[in-house]
This record gives sequence, C-alpha cells and structure tokens, in this order.
Amino acid sequence: MVKHRASRYATYAALVAALPLAHLLIPPALQKQTPELADYAMLLSAVAALAYTMFCLRKPGYDRRYIVCLALGIGCWVAGMAYAIAQSGTDENLITTYVLFISYGAPLLYAAVTTPDEPSSHARRIVDGVLLLLLVVLCYLGVRDLTDAYGFLKPEDMGWVVVAFDVENLFLFGTFLVRYVTATNEGDHRFFGIGTVFLALYAICAGIHNHDELYPDTLALQRMADVLPTVPFIALACLLHANATPGPFEPIRHKWARQLSVSLAPGLLLAAIFALSLGITERQGMFGRSILALAMLAYVVRVTQTQFWFARTRDRLAEALSTVERVSLLDELTGIPNRRAFDQALDERTKEAAREQRALSVLMIDIDHFKTFNDTFGHLEGDVALRSVARLLAGTLRRPADFIARYGGEEFVVILPGTDEDGAQVVARRMNRAVYDAQLENSNGIDSRVTVSIGVATRAPDHVQGVVMHADRALYSAKHAGRNRFVAATTD
Ligand code: GH3
Ligand code: MG
Ligand code: MG
Repeated sequence: MVKHRASRYATYAALVAALPLAHLLIPPALQKQTPELADYAMLLSAVAALAYTMFCLRKPGYDRRYIVCLALGIGCWVAGMAYAIAQSGTDENLITTYVLFISYGAPLLYAAVTTPDEPSSHARRIVDGVLLLLLVVLCYLGVRDLTDAYGFLKPEDMGWVVVAFDVENLFLFGTFLVRYVTATNEGDHRFFGIGTVFLALYAICAGIHNHDELYPDTLALQRMADVLPTVPFIALACLLHANATPGPFEPIRHKWARQLSVSLAPGLLLAAIFALSLGITERQGMFGRSILALAMLAYVVRVTQTQFWFARTRDRLAEALSTVERVSLLDELTGIPNRRAFDQALDERTKEAAREQRALSVLMIDIDHFKTFNDTFGHLEGDVALRSVARLLAGTLRRPADFIARYGGEEFVVILPGTDEDGAQVVARRMNRAVYDAQLENSNGIDSRVTVSIGVATRAPDHVQGVVMHADRALYSAKHAGRNRFVAATTD
C-alpha cells in the first residue's frame, strides 16, 4: 500500500518535472535555439489540465459546478496561449491574449464566491453569467487602453500588466485558501484544497515567468523560467487524479470564521468590479461607462436576489421553528399538551396567581386498574382508551384558562387558575362522571368500566408552591378510599 502510494507520487513528480526538464535539455541537444518551444510546452500542459478537468466532470467525487468553473478558467488560458502562438511573428494585435489570460480568473472567482449559503436558482446563474461577461468586457476595455497605435502593448505599461497578473493570482489564491479553510463539507474542502495548491503554484511560477528582471540573465535560468508555468497545470491534473475520492474531513471549529468567509464572498465580486473599473477612463467614453454601469446593475440584482433569498429562508425557518415548538409541547399519543408544556404552564399560572392574588387549583388524575386493562385488551387497545379518556377529561373544561396535560403513563394533570376549592371539586366531580358515563369496558375495573381517581389541591395566592405534591397525595388517598372518586387535599 505504502509502496504503491510512493510509486504513484513518483509518477506525479516525474510528470510535473518532464516538460521543464525537456525544455532545459532538448535545445542544447539539438544545438539550436527554440524560443517557441516554451509556448508549445505551456499550451500542452494547459490542454492536458483542461482535458483532465473535463474528464472529472464524469467523476462523482467532484461538484460539477466547481469543475465547470475550473474548466472555463483553464479554457480561457488555453485560448490565450493558442492565440499568442498563432499570432507570433505577425503584427497582429495581442491584447486578446492578455484579455484571455486575465479572464481565466473570472470563472475561478465565481467558483470561490458561490457558497452553499447563497441561492442557486437559474435566475442567479443567468445574473452571474452576465456579470462575468461584463467583467471580461471591462477587462478588455482596460487592456485595450494600454496598446500603442499598432495594437501592441506599450512597453512602458508592461510593468502594470505584470503587476495586475500578480495581484489577480494572489487574490485568487487568497479566496480559494479562505474557502478551503472554512469549508463546511468534504467536497468543498477537497476542491478548494486542490485549487489552493494550484493557484499557489501558478502565482509563484507565473510570477517568476513574468518578472525576468528579478533573476540573473543566464540561459539555463531563462529557459527554466520560460517553461515554469507548465508546473501548476500538470500538478493540477495530478491533484485532481489523486483526490478524486472523498477522504476524512472535519469542519473548522470556529463558526465565526465560516460566517465571515460566507459574508465576504459577494464582496469579492464587487472588489473585482472595482479593480477593473480602474482601467475605465475618459478614453473609453460612453461605452466604457455603460459597461461599468451595467456591471454595477448586475451586482445590485445579485445582492437583491441574495437578500430576498435570506428573507424568505428566515421566514421559512421561523415557521418551521414555531411548528417544532408547537409539536414539542404536545403529547404524541393523546394530542393534548405534554409534561413539558405542563411545567411551563404551571410556572406561568403560579406567577399569575401570585400577581393577581387569586387561588389556584390542580387536579391529579390517574386511570384506575389500567394495568389490568392492558393485560386484558393489549397495549394498543390501552392506547385507544387513553386517547378516549384524554378527550373526555378535556371536554369537561369550560374556561379558556383551564389547562390539561398528560403527566405521564395513564396520569393526567389539570390546572384551574382562579378557581377555589369548591370550583375545583365541581370540575373533579364532572370528570369522574364523564369517564364513568362513557362506559369504556374494563372487565376488571369498577363496575366493569374505565374509571379515574382524582386528587384535588387548592392553594391560596401566596402559597401556590407544592400544589402538585398536595394533589398527588390527595390522589393517593382517592385510590385508597376505593377509586372512581376525588379527594380534596386539606388546605393549610
Ligand atoms: P391504579 O388503579 O392503582 O392506578 O392501578 P393501575 O394499574 O392503573 O396503576 P399502575 O401505575 O400500577 O399502572 C399504570 C399502567 O398504565 C402501567 C401500564 O400498563 C399503563 N400505561 C402507562 N402508560 C401507558 C401507555 O402509554 N399506553 C398504554 N396502553 N398503557 C400505559
Ligand atoms: Mg399510575
Ligand atoms: Mg392507574
């Protein structure tokens, strides 16, 4: 296994080194200068990366959207290189090459700004497509401004273009690195990891390639620098090959980092518009200004879409939350409030009783001989009986403030706010009667039917604590006294 992996990495290293070495060794061997060989090597490496990226579209391990962006970006680069080779030696305008080289970053930037926390509708993709197109036009206008009367890049502006490439490469590297570090799922983590390594290599190799003033003017160094941009492309194909299957993944623990990365994502597009707007001057006239205005408009539409999506998502979440809250307070079997709802209600009602100086009564209700009911008819029938008893008990409550809940098992509890001892006994009597009169069969029960025993406790406004305990004790007394009855706890 280890040996297998080592030989695989050795193959990757050999592939990455092959083109630079060939470029270093072949011309001296042939004993002639071949300045165009480096361009062919770069084109070949980018075509290989493009072909393998497109092959990855069929691999289930990669997110198609990201791979399409990557393929589009490298596609621009390939087109730029191919155009440069086709036009070399002629007096043709070369700005298309620069536009394509800069445009390669647009789809990559798009991949970096599409986070899982944003809408992914068709409308959104159309707006993004339009925006990317406008960015390319802005880029074209900016570069066109740097050409001389013959359509060539003015030598004095070359430095600016090289700096623009550096800024773009580092900017893309930074955005991918942030997405890699803050990824929330394995797929994003893997893709942006691959992208980060590729963009780091690209920034370094393209930087060395473009800044020939930084190193000594020796032939070997020059030849190496000429062909260096092949390294990131071949490395990209190898990285895509090596990481096609999901691996272990642990999302970043700092939530704020993830939230910050999501929040920054749309701003990156604005930063790109701003950067390209610097190239739009008086010289481009009305057309340049219109393209810039359209790009801003597309951005505004995009922001509106996002805000709309967030507002709608927030409303849906609020609805879902209220449903969850409601369901979490209901007893699944009987449909009446559950123990948790009772605890909340008791807390509220006791405070209310103290505030309004009113008495509060609690009834503890337990079905008699219910174990034998289950033993005789089975648990399913037992559940049906429980539901019936819950409905009968709830049906006896008349005031809106009265509250009934299933306390647990075959026990129920009732809160009667503002109800004194006499009132509570009226309700308890009504409950005993309602269940008795329903004549639910229980062969071993009292009079062969389902009955309930009830403990009643009423507390004065300032002594509501412990009212449930007193009701429970009274219930115990009702059981001892023969069941199918209520007993009121003695007031202190
Ligand atoms: P007592 O008159 O003294 O209350 O007798 P009992 O048999 O009702 O009392 P006990 O507390 O000993 O038994 C309660 C029984 O209620 C146990 C179980 O069979 C039944 N029970 C509790 N929860 C459920 C339930 O959710 N569904 C069904 N079908 N039966 C339940
Ligand atoms: Mg019981
Ligand atoms: Mg019971």
